[in-house]
Amino acid sequence: MKSHAKVVVVGGGVVGVSVLYHLTKAGWKDVLLIERAELTSGSTWHAAGGMHTLNGDPNVARLQQYTINLYKELERISGQSCGLHITGGIMLAGTKERLEWLKMAKARGRYLGMDLEIVSVDEAQKMFPLMDKTQFVGGLYDPIEGHVDPYGVTHAYAKSAQIGGAEIVRQCRVTDIRQRTDGSWDIITPQGNINAEHVVNAGGLWAREVGRMVGLELPVLAMEHQYLITGDMPELVGRPEIMTVLDFEGEIYTRQERGGMLLGTYEKACVPWSPKTTPWDFGQDLLANDLERIAPSLEVGFRHFPALEKAGIRKIVNGPFTFAPDGNPLIGPIRGLRNFWVACGVMAGFSQGGGVGLSLANWMVHGDPGADIWGMDVARYGDWTTLAYTNAKVRENYSRRFRIRFPNEELPAGRPLRTTPIYEMLQAEHAVFGDYCGLEHPLWFAPSAAEAHDEISFRRSNAHPHVGAECRAVNEAVGLLETSAYGKFEITGSGSAAWLSRLMANKVPAVGRITLTPMLNERGKLIGDFTMCRLAEEHFFLIGTYAAETWYLRWFERHAPPATVSVRPCAMQYVGLSVAGPRSRELLQSLVSEDLSTAGFAFMSFRRMPVGMVPALVGRVSFTGDLGYEIWVSSEYQRALYAALKQAGQGLGLRSIGGRALNALRVEKGFGTWAREYRPIYGPYEAGLGRFVDLNKGEFIGREAALAEKQSGGALRLVTFAIDTVDVDALGDEPIWHEGKVVGWVTSGAYGHRVGRSIALGYVPKELATAEAGFEIELIGERRPAARQAAAPFDPSGARMRA
Ligand SMILES: Cc1cc2nc3c(=O)[nH]c(=O)nc-3n(C[C@H](O)[C@H](O)[C@H](O)COP(=O)(O)OP(=O)(O)OC[C@H]3O[C@@H](n4cnc5c(N)ncnc54)[C@H](O)[C@@H]3O)c2cc1C
Repeated sequence: MKSHAKVVVVGGGVVGVSVLYHLTKAGWKDVLLIERAELTSGSTWHAAGGMHTLNGDPNVARLQQYTINLYKELERISGQSCGLHITGGIMLAGTKERLEWLKMAKARGRYLGMDLEIVSVDEAQKMFPLMDKTQFVGGLYDPIEGHVDPYGVTHAYAKSAQIGGAEIVRQCRVTDIRQRTDGSWDIITPQGNINAEHVVNAGGLWAREVGRMVGLELPVLAMEHQYLITGDMPELVGRPEIMTVLDFEGEIYTRQERGGMLLGTYEKACVPWSPKTTPWDFGQDLLANDLERIAPSLEVGFRHFPALEKAGIRKIVNGPFTFAPDGNPLIGPIRGLRNFWVACGVMAGFSQGGGVGLSLANWMVHGDPGADIWGMDVARYGDWTTLAYTNAKVRENYSRRFRIRFPNEELPAGRPLRTTPIYEMLQAEHAVFGDYCGLEHPLWFAPSAAEAHDEISFRRSNAHPHVGAECRAVNEAVGLLETSAYGKFEITGSGSAAWLSRLMANKVPAVGRITLTPMLNERGKLIGDFTMCRLAEEHFFLIGTYAAETWYLRWFERHAPPATVSVRPCAMQYVGLSVAGPRSRELLQSLVSEDLSTAGFAFMSFRRMPVGMVPALVGRVSFTGDLGYEIWVSSEYQRALYAALKQAGQGLGLRSIGGRALNALRVEKGFGTWAREYRPIYGPYEAGLGRFVDLNKGEFIGREAALAEKQSGGALRLVTFAIDTVDVDALGDEPIWHEGKVVGWVTSGAYGHRVGRSIALGYVPKELATAEAGFEIELIGERRPAARQAAAPFDPSGARMRA
């Protein structure tokens, strides 16, 4: 084995070889893969090889499409068959709700260019005669589903990579990985050590162990998974291969395997495998079958597909494969470990492996994944995803893999884990909580304990009138909102202002002031949006999305400040409360001695001031779009602050409000938010943030590209719509139609209680952004008229928040 390589990929499963291939394709030839045994020796060899294009995250769905379309290319380059069977597939719905879900999936597929079709049960039965049509109400047909041969695919990637210059070393276990002082990595193996600039952990079933070699605890867990193959079936004789089927209510997937059918299930009584450490002597092994565990699913399966029961069972496979807590892959560079990359937690390697390899290779070679992979980025997790938390969430996710997650459905596993000091006080007010990064935060407040739950629905739910009352309180009097679930950073020391000015697109504010600023990557795309507050010459308080905290820190590390500057993440050290609405000034003024009039504390001011007895940082800004204040305090003061605000609000119409009301309020105001309106696929001018980009302040990251976008106008525009609808609002990802064609997609939606209309934000081509009429938005399969709004529906001049 050679002693140096630019990249060492650890692990020769389908993911590792895909990374290797894509690295060579992107131009890096000095790349080497080390495999403990033979290629495919983890989960890969016994996979069922099924592939699907649908995914809850449209950006992941795009990469799944890419993967499926890649196989022909691999076969061409390598001469190795991938055993590609594009049979088409039907997703069967057994309930009305599931059919609605499928209609929404079809709608989402439209703007991804997917050719999906809702079919009746009769049509479905023609396509898949093995089903009992009385068990179903309809289905969704996808022409590019099918299955591949896991061995063939892995070797096709491997050969293509070798043709591109890569080397593969088999029967060689990496036993340790050590970083040198120059930042390069020594990969330790019994066959000698190799020094590399980059390491990729594609260890699959052993990704945790490979991570632990560098002090990393990755949130992945392997689950046992079983599928069976039936005996030969006369129904399959003399006909073309039958298509693949997903039966959601049966929690079953099935496809043809030679003369019989392969049937797999995600059972409720699921079992993790090797929850703490994966044994190194596990190879091309299978686990003991446990038919009893999947018996309830089989019972349903045999009822839904009676011919399968008659065929008998020829073979059962029980093998482990890994999941992250949300079921999506973990990819990207690791903060704090220069040039250490992961590509693991890939539970659908044959649908996702190509996209994972492409994104990671782009990231390594070009410094950017080249696609919006936020949903797969390893940085979406943080310290809270311990082994036990991961275990609880993965089991929950596995056992409901085929279940509908309703838009207002909060899942219970691993909760409550993180709570702020006022948690019990909010509970006493009948708060209904959501889970955000493991943190409990109030979504809305019910009138009584008995009513404090969400009735899950795609339509307006039991929360609707209560959220309405919260919004009206903000409109007419004052609302009190917990705002702890934001990322916060304190930046201090000589050079802070200059460093922030280089990172952020807007100019740094004057002392005592706030500016809103996008953060751009070199391609001029949005990679963050912040509230930047300046306490002193070289002392800043930066507020952004909490879920992206590690993501931001990784970027800050890549563009590290001088040693004189300290960047301190302090999300949970500074918790927050906000008051908003026309009486919020009166309320807060009764607790502070500073003059809160606009003359004394104007819109976008920021200052240290005690609130009652509590030392606090106060900003005059509110995401509600109304007059309002954000108050940040060290966590031990939060209870006292909450009590003081509550007390001061008596007689002023104060009402506690939650995240659902805030969402409705900001949507009415046309305010975007991270991961919805603001993502790395949009530029600032497209997103309506151009006024927060200061092209005249001097150099900053992304300036050239932003300037080019300003000159060209970019391709898209974020637009606000009012939808003509009765009991359902947009959520995000619905297609936007214009004169009979799908032209864009919704990013957020809500019922705007202040303006009395259903509002949606979404992107359309810039040429259509001024079209007067002809728009429709598809809600649960129905195209509803949508009126483009020339300005924010609520307070377009901003007079209320500046009052
Ligand atoms: C029963 C079953 C059915 C499945 N069905 C499907 C399906 O229909 N469709 C689908 O898309 N997916 C399916 N999967 C999931 C699929 O198998 C995985 O998504 C995929 O195999 C993950 O590949 P990987 O490369 O990440 O991991 P692995 O396949 O586990 O590969 C990791 C490799 O790394 C090597 N390695 C680890 N540590 C070291 C080290 N220290 N030194 C050297 N080498 C090391 C291992 O030997 C192994 O070969 C199924 C899985 C199972 C178990």
